Amino acid sequence: MAHPLPILVPTPAHSAIHLSGGTLTWLSEQALVPGTLVRVPLGRRVLLGIVWDSTTAAADTPAIDADKLRPIAEALTALPPLSESWRRLVDFTARYYQRSAGEVALAALPPALRELSGEQLARRLKKQRRTSLKAPDPSAPIGPLPTLTAEQATALEALAKHDASAPFLLFGATGSGKTEVYLRAVQDLLARDPQAQALVMVPEINLTPQLEARFIARFGAARVVSLHSGMTNPQRLRSWLAAHGDLVSDGESDNHDRGTVVSPVRIVLGTRMAVFASLPRLQLIVVDEEHDPSYKQQEGARYSARDLAVYRGRLENAQVILGSATPSLESWHHSRPADDGGRYVRLAMPSRVGATDQPDAPGGGLPLVRRVDMRHQPKGAVFSPPLLAAMRERIARGEQCLVFLNRRGYAPVLHCAECEWKSECPHCSAYRVFHKIDRTLRCHHCGYTERVPRACPACGSPDIRPIGRGTEQIEEQLAQLLADVQRPAGTPAGTEATAAEAGPVRIARIDADTTRHKGELEAQLAQVHQGEVDVLVGTQMIAKGHDFRNITLVAVINPDTALFSSDFRAPERLFSLLMQVAGRAGRDTEAQARAGRPSEVWVQTEQPAHPLYETLKQHDYPAFAAQQLQEREQAGLPPFSFQALVRAEARTQEGAQAFLNAASTLGQDAAAQLAVTVYPAVPMSVQRVANVERAQMLVESASRAALQRFLSDWQETLHALRGTPEGQGILRWAVDVDPLAI
Ligand code: ADP
Ligand code: ZN
Ligand code: ZN
Repeated sequence: MAHPLPILVPTPAHSAIHLSGGTLTWLSEQALVPGTLVRVPLGRRVLLGIVWDSTTAAADTPAIDADKLRPIAEALTALPPLSESWRRLVDFTARYYQRSAGEVALAALPPALRELSGEQLARRLKKQRRTSLKAPDPSAPIGPLPTLTAEQATALEALAKHDASAPFLLFGATGSGKTEVYLRAVQDLLARDPQAQALVMVPEINLTPQLEARFIARFGAARVVSLHSGMTNPQRLRSWLAAHGDLVSDGESDNHDRGTVVSPVRIVLGTRMAVFASLPRLQLIVVDEEHDPSYKQQEGARYSARDLAVYRGRLENAQVILGSATPSLESWHHSRPADDGGRYVRLAMPSRVGATDQPDAPGGGLPLVRRVDMRHQPKGAVFSPPLLAAMRERIARGEQCLVFLNRRGYAPVLHCAECEWKSECPHCSAYRVFHKIDRTLRCHHCGYTERVPRACPACGSPDIRPIGRGTEQIEEQLAQLLADVQRPAGTPAGTEATAAEAGPVRIARIDADTTRHKGELEAQLAQVHQGEVDVLVGTQMIAKGHDFRNITLVAVINPDTALFSSDFRAPERLFSLLMQVAGRAGRDTEAQARAGRPSEVWVQTEQPAHPLYETLKQHDYPAFAAQQLQEREQAGLPPFSFQALVRAEARTQEGAQAFLNAASTLGQDAAAQLAVTVYPAVPMSVQRVANVERAQMLVESASRAALQRFLSDWQETLHALRGTPEGQGILRWAVDVDPLAI
């Protein structure tokens, strides 16, 4: 007898299938359990699908006419079925972020899985099983372990008293040794349960190699895999399969529920996509730098991997550790005292490793923050004289400096002094950036690139000049300003350098332009670590995570613009970015004590008395957070309210707004009933990109449940609108729940 099975297939949120619960029905000779991967015919194609739970889908599925059903093409039974909690994670993600479960589920699987037949997959698993059996099993951690600092020990004790019901917020200063806490937490877990699995996430691909090296050194290569978008499809498949595991039963049984899933891989390291890794024995989830905006997916299902990690922890009864020196205000607010309504447990590690052995190291070994009032510096100076003097001194002592400017290229705009022409992009409402190296004007939004004109394209005047500055220009200016500085001979402390001759200063730049090719970033970072660079110029790419040992001075050139942004999260982002860059300075507290002086962070600003810089100077995140949360509470902003954005793209701005406003009108009654506010449509801050006009509309409520309810009821309205006159010109629209940028 053939069994009708509800099967999830990849359908975009915009399809009718989505509105019918997300699954379609096929027939199978075998009764397959939910979570089994199958290949099914749809139209003329054969697609990868997942047998889903009839309970969640049945309610909405139209009555099944068994005669019209087609049989599945095959079932990939060599693979253990995806777990119940994995399926619930997918269902939740789809519901919460207003997408189809099929889209979420299939995007969460490694792409290479779509190409394999059952037979190919079985062969691949067999091969993988053979190699994993050969791999050594280090039952004890490798190498001598560092003695824990008192703060690390206290944090680990709290974690060990393990109450998986509440997530932990590890609030640890940069360099306080958070990674060591993660390593030990994993180690403790594996000591309790050698079969357990842990998921450790970092925000950026370029932080994974460093983390991977530390985990492999501790646990052995056979126990650790990575999952991130920088991997090739075959690599991703290999990691995914290894973590997903294998069945120990002889594999012939149809009912995989009876088999036991085993996986040799204990630890998955990855970026946001790893939150969907199939880990049948997941017991610990770490989200490092949990505040980082990279955890938010910016297309398709716009999920927050951090928030999903917390949800998944609850589903799997796994411990969750969110780590940061500057937590998101949401997580910080959740970690307020329990009797005040807090749901997370806050663990603090305020001091840098080694700082307590160095009683002279001020502020827990954190660098000294100096503000330079740019209103009192020579006009037009990019580098203030005191900053320059400090840098020269550091270099002359064989120490490294880092100069941070979050803008690449030479200058953000080219300008004609005669007629006021500016290097606007013809396709976007933005200026094209001047890149001097290859003499191009490049649009950073649509990529449109042209040679720099010799004369003004509007009036022919040769007097066209760059305005403002980017990293390229900083690098060029520093080369001139520091041309006469000599670095000493010898090996700088804390680097892996071989002794070098004395010589002129060496400047390097790291940004998206210098690291476009594979391996370039790693090579450049290695040069910094090996002491082959004296001054490193870069964008936020170098601000995060890297454990530079010999950088003793960090300079922030022009951070002020973020103070006046219309985005209410701009100060939060600026503060954490500055704390992160500052965190690159003076990570070797011993070396500082030897040198007899602290490392420094220089902030050039025209607003030296701004409260943000005051709290930065004190390294006082709690004070900054308290002040921001107070403002947010008064203004009714997150985390005291909940938001979603609906974005629409059309050929004209009127078209984009008409669609949104029509949707708003149709949702009015529901919004009023649920106490949800729908604001009028407005152009996005960069209104036009690649000749497409963009508009957005904010939806807000004091209740998350009410907002969710409103959005899911409203979906149908939005879909239906596409067929009406207001929906005619719409190219795309999407809902962004808990948006990060407004
Ligand atoms: P964070 O992630 O908090 O910024 P890291 O985990 O990178 O800090 O630790 C900073 C540095 O301190 C690293 O070089 C690490 O190897 C070292 N470290 C961490 N814990 C200890 C310890 N208990 N004893 C000695 N060194 C440590
Ligand atoms: Zn001109
Ligand atoms: Zn453009």
